[in-house]
Amino acid sequence: MRNELRPSHAELRSASELVKSLVQINSVNPPGNELAAVELLAWHASNEGFTPAIEGPDPNRPNLICRLPAEEANRRHRPLILNCHLDTVPVDDPDRWQHGPFSGHEENGYIWGRGTIDMKGFAAMAFTAISLLKRRHFPINRDVIFAAVADEEAGTKLGSRWLVENRPELLGSKPEYVINEVGGFTVHRNGKRFYPVQVAEKGIAWLRMTAEGTPGHSSLPPTDSSVATLIEAAHRISRAQLPWHPSPEAAVHIAGFAAPEGEIAQKLAGLLGNRLIGPGLLRRVVKDPNRRAATEAILRNTATPTRFQTAEVINALPAKASVDIDGRLAPGQSAEMLIRELQKVIGPRLTRNISFEIKEKSPPTSFSTDTELYRKIEAALKDRDPDGHVVPSIIPGFTDSHNYARLGATCYGFYPLQLPEGLDFAALFHGDNERLPVAGFHWGLTTLMQMLGDFLSAE
Ligand SMILES: [Zn+2]
Repeated sequence: MRNELRPSHAELRSASELVKSLVQINSVNPPGNELAAVELLAWHASNEGFTPAIEGPDPNRPNLICRLPAEEANRRHRPLILNCHLDTVPVDDPDRWQHGPFSGHEENGYIWGRGTIDMKGFAAMAFTAISLLKRRHFPINRDVIFAAVADEEAGTKLGSRWLVENRPELLGSKPEYVINEVGGFTVHRNGKRFYPVQVAEKGIAWLRMTAEGTPGHSSLPPTDSSVATLIEAAHRISRAQLPWHPSPEAAVHIAGFAAPEGEIAQKLAGLLGNRLIGPGLLRRVVKDPNRRAATEAILRNTATPTRFQTAEVINALPAKASVDIDGRLAPGQSAEMLIRELQKVIGPRLTRNISFEIKEKSPPTSFSTDTELYRKIEAALKDRDPDGHVVPSIIPGFTDSHNYARLGATCYGFYPLQLPEGLDFAALFHGDNERLPVAGFHWGLTTLMQMLGDFLSAE
């Protein structure tokens, strides 16, 4: 690698210390309270000679942006954004954690705490990266922007979405690339190591399903009450196997994991995308229910009833009852298409008394792998783990990337992290005992610097 960008031992150490400090700031969303984390980063940023912008619609929940401009003579391309969010998901039960979720406790090579993986770890990594580029006076070929945003876990309204809609100039107006979360970590499977790099995300269709029926006293229950209709419809939806929607994005993801497993595995992987035999085949070849659910989620829409609004009191039936449905869209799908699928699932009898309203929607996003940045990411991962397999992946959730896509940016999930065997990314992400292997984090920061060195010096 370009030696001048290799982080020193002290720099690696101070990056992992920054992870701890960020984890010790409770920024569970709701309510968020990202301000203290922003102030900590602003203090570090000023020490590095940046003039951070702190902006947002809620003064207690701002976003922080630092820009490292390229020299005029070297600026040949549109900006690169290194994005992180500073809020985290809540902690269900701290008693289930081995070390406190806001302790930042380090023991036996791990830092413990909510946000180490999602994604204060990358906040520290990306901030260190832009600081090292500045400290070393590295001749970058484009502006590099560090964005630490609020409110990702609750839908991005105060964070990346607000920035994109209100202050795009802080994001370089037309950034070319964004490096973001959910990719770059090690997945161990059958003795092999894979590195998914996220290039696609499912879309969102947050729906409200409302049932209408005869209101009345619940001591004399009418058979067609709104609540009875709603429950029956919600039950059908939660049991439904929605249609298969194979996409090129899902095919590349599945083929990538099958590639080193031999010809039979590759053939089977190809057949999974077949609408007729795919669903049955998946049940037969993937026995682990979590892995099967993860594969299904990228091949179909999902619709999960979550929040019910029914009667105010125990003894009366309202004329209307509703439930919110968290719908996620496979590539090529829309909220309207999902509603038609759900109407089919609940059948014509119930559909007569049921209506759907779209509360929020965002289309699926996908980005080409035929780019300079993707090639550099792939090369850096292969160089740092020659036996690893790099796989362009699609995730069932969404990240800030779907907002940046609106500015025309190509976004990849790349938070490089070497995870030891037995440490499963999916279990850590939003899970109990979220923790970060320090050596794997230092490996990741060095990998990121190597990649940035190559990418930012290219013609
Ligand atoms: Zn996240």
